[in-house]
Amino acid sequence: MDKKILIDLSKFRESSDKSCDITPPEGFFSIPPNMNGLKSIRELAVFQFTCRKCEDAPCIDVCPFEALEKDSDGMIHRYTNLCISCKSCVTICPFGTMMTDFFDHHRKKDLYFDLSDKDEVNKFIKACPAGAVSLVDMDENPEEHIYKLNDTVLIKENIWKTEK
Ligand code: SF4
Ligand code: SF4
Repeated sequence: MDKKILIDLSKFRESSDKSCDITPPEGFFSIPPNMNGLKSIRELAVFQFTCRKCEDAPCIDVCPFEALEKDSDGMIHRYTNLCISCKSCVTICPFGTMMTDFFDHHRKKDLYFDLSDKDEVNKFIKACPAGAVSLVDMDENPEEHIYKLNDTVLIKENIWKTEK
């Protein structure tokens, strides 16, 4: 695919805040047959770009099943096979990093779209909140708050930065 997939996390966040009735879909690359270790593109983006990488990481402490772990770069990872979707981490995060809906998704296969398949990408765009996902001809552009997640996906997010 020549064009890149641009995902605006703020649109997902608005949708997550506003409605409990509409469950946004999730995009994935390489969906494993048994679904173990599945990481949605939105979860990867949120932990990479939205999370403030707290030193004390209360989300890790509150998790009753040790499903969250911080790597050597300070990035949080969730073990989907351990997570029970209790959402304690969502509640305790002081910065609203995690959206309330995305821990439900590893149990709803009809909301999964394979982003390595062009037709699936188009279906994913239609199923997402209006304006949240689009196909673009552009590269990373931090001045517009657009960052590269991987070779195919760009993420739009207001990244928190410390003063120098
Ligand atoms: S509490 Fe929130 S901002 Fe802090 S490390 Fe956890 S997810 Fe990131
Ligand atoms: S939702 Fe999952 S990762 Fe978060 S606290 Fe609960 S078990 Fe842990």
